[in-house]
Amino acid sequence: MPSPARLQAYQQIAERPAPITSQPSSLEEIWASDVFTLERMKSALPKAVFKSIQRSIREGSKLDGSIADTVAQAMKDWATDRGALYYAHVFYPLTNLTAEKHDGFIAPQGDGTVISEFTGKLLVQGEPDGSSFPNGGIRSTFEARGYTAWDVTSPAYLMPTPNGVTLCIPTVFVSWTGEALDKKTPLLRSNAAMNRQARKLLQLLGETEIAPVNSSCGAEQEYFLVDSSFTALRPDLQLAGRTLFGAAPAKGQQFDDHYFGAIPERVQVFMQDVEHQLYRLGIPAKTRHNEVAPGQFEIAPFFEAANVATDHQQLIMTVLKATAKKHGFSCLLHEKPFAGVNGSGKHVNWSIGNATQGNLLDPGDTPHQNLQFLLFCGAVIRGVHLYGPLMRAAIATASNDHRLGANEAPPAIISVYLGSQLEDVFNQIKSGQLSGSASKALMSLGVDTLPELAKDPGDRNRTSPFAFTGNRFEFRAVGSGQSVAGPLVVLNTILADSLEWISGELQQQLSTGAPLEEAAFGVLKRTMEQHGAVVFGGDGYSEAWHRMAVEERGLENLRTTADALPVLRRSEIEALFARQGVLTPVELESRFDVYAEQYILAIEVEAKLVLRIARTQIYPAVTTYLERLTRSLRDQQDLGLAPERGLAADVAQRNASLLRSCAELESTLQGHHAGDLNAQMRHCADVLLPLMGAVREAADSLESLVDDELWPLPTYQEMLFVK
Ligand code: ADP
Ligand code: MG
Repeated sequence: MPSPARLQAYQQIAERPAPITSQPSSLEEIWASDVFTLERMKSALPKAVFKSIQRSIREGSKLDGSIADTVAQAMKDWATDRGALYYAHVFYPLTNLTAEKHDGFIAPQGDGTVISEFTGKLLVQGEPDGSSFPNGGIRSTFEARGYTAWDVTSPAYLMPTPNGVTLCIPTVFVSWTGEALDKKTPLLRSNAAMNRQARKLLQLLGETEIAPVNSSCGAEQEYFLVDSSFTALRPDLQLAGRTLFGAAPAKGQQFDDHYFGAIPERVQVFMQDVEHQLYRLGIPAKTRHNEVAPGQFEIAPFFEAANVATDHQQLIMTVLKATAKKHGFSCLLHEKPFAGVNGSGKHVNWSIGNATQGNLLDPGDTPHQNLQFLLFCGAVIRGVHLYGPLMRAAIATASNDHRLGANEAPPAIISVYLGSQLEDVFNQIKSGQLSGSASKALMSLGVDTLPELAKDPGDRNRTSPFAFTGNRFEFRAVGSGQSVAGPLVVLNTILADSLEWISGELQQQLSTGAPLEEAAFGVLKRTMEQHGAVVFGGDGYSEAWHRMAVEERGLENLRTTADALPVLRRSEIEALFARQGVLTPVELESRFDVYAEQYILAIEVEAKLVLRIARTQIYPAVTTYLERLTRSLRDQQDLGLAPERGLAADVAQRNASLLRSCAELESTLQGHHAGDLNAQMRHCADVLLPLMGAVREAADSLESLVDDELWPLPTYQEMLFVK
């Protein structure tokens, strides 16, 4: 029988009333109903003003200051018509979270009356009191305040909150001296860099009409749902987002005999509620039920422009969490809430394209399109080979470390999976079979054009951190709780850089009079010779790959955040971001500082929680049990029986070892502020985490020995299976 507190949780769950949700009559009725869409802007704005906005969106440029007042007025009228009394500048600090600065539309007049007011200046230049947001010293260096300005490419929307409707404006967040303090600014810059370089290459390929090139993203979000009556009894889930204790359930990890066939009605109602809210916000989401672990689910929107997709992704996380609460669940976005159980990722599907050439990562139907595709794809391969460690750094957090390299998630070694067909094509290019007359060379493959690189699920390598999936790349090592902005910034930037290199090489060849196709194959051949080592189609989980990747192919295996974040300080990374105009050295250094501090803080909080839970919840429960055992042994002895002391001795020993590990953890925890950020990160990774593991090991072994009635923490079985 579970402990009284856990029993009470069961009871609460059984008695939970079904949440009331309103059913919309149709998708059309609610679709984007809370968004100030282009369509709404068109009908609300003078023609010239609307055209100017449209241009800004297409070109990713700033809002023209001279029309800001008109736009602000229209936006405010639309919002107040729908009951909004407030507006908020929404921005994306370096924490992976979303931040908001709320204000009222209210403007007092001299005569004691008020009017609602919203000027262009407020639209483009909000002043958040952002001093508490981590900025890695940028602002103290420059003694600058931050300001926010509407990112025209991401539409404003309404968010209902318990105290009224708020007009939300997605913004960039920069210091007065122009340094990016957020995740959106570099994303916009990286997109612009990629656009510049992609256009250059397309021009070399003979294109004359080239629309702005944009990156696209579709991010699949995995998450866990646990009943909030259980999470209320787990300080670790509440404060660290993951369980710091908990023995694997008796069923073991044979969770593959899924569970999702019988998805509880409660969860289904929750999912529908989430979907309806997202539809209102114009987010094209589709929920899925079929994740690997029990209690684990997925939601994936259709892909959109990377910038909008990123804002929408942040909203999805917000809506998931808030809606879960309403339904009596906790939504866990942590990458590894349960040790030994499949973790959660966020697959970032990424491609680039424009209105004139289409998806540039799509093979296409003509030899010319195929050549274009091969060059863009080759640029990606080169980028990943040169900057794989940067990709690893972009997804490095304390929580994602628990997932990467575990036997269900991509390894921390970044390689590219192309699929057997495409890998074969690139290998032929490398071996020179495709040099010489290019058109003949293509014929030598037996086809005029590349075969259709169908997205064949059977051929998809789930063990690869970065895979080509027919017309896009899928970055699978991204963590479920992360903003997708960082990974997208890196992908756009390394692609821009490789495109620039390819254009340079191509230009040189062309200037010697070489025909375009021959020149292109020459460049691709060199790309593969220099960078083909990053292409890997085998089992990314295997020991053999880990060895081969590092020893034979020279790829890096950056296991922990402490290993990965220092990559941001390498001179070639600084040069890359500066060259492409994405991050200045100061901005990059500030990111290293903030991310390193976050890593240290996360582990410090966890270590303290481990001590607290072990000492104030687990040790007392075990001691009570020991007292009971001892009493029973005495009773048996009094009755003249020969008592079996083995269990009591075992429990006593493990309890002692629990306390010993706690003492050791505590003493190293105190000393860990010594040294620079690198030294502190190393201490977390090499000393604190293993000691936390030792405490946990003792505690988890006790969980299966101690009377269930005394065990204070809800078990894995309960949290994962009881809905
Ligand atoms: P999976 O098989 O990995 O579950 P899906 O086919 O469901 O993948 O697609 C996953 C995500 O990839 C979706 O968000 C989808 O919209 C997105 N996606 C599809 N095509 C592209 C593309 N060309 N660029 C970016 N994302 C894309
Ligand atoms: Mg996927």
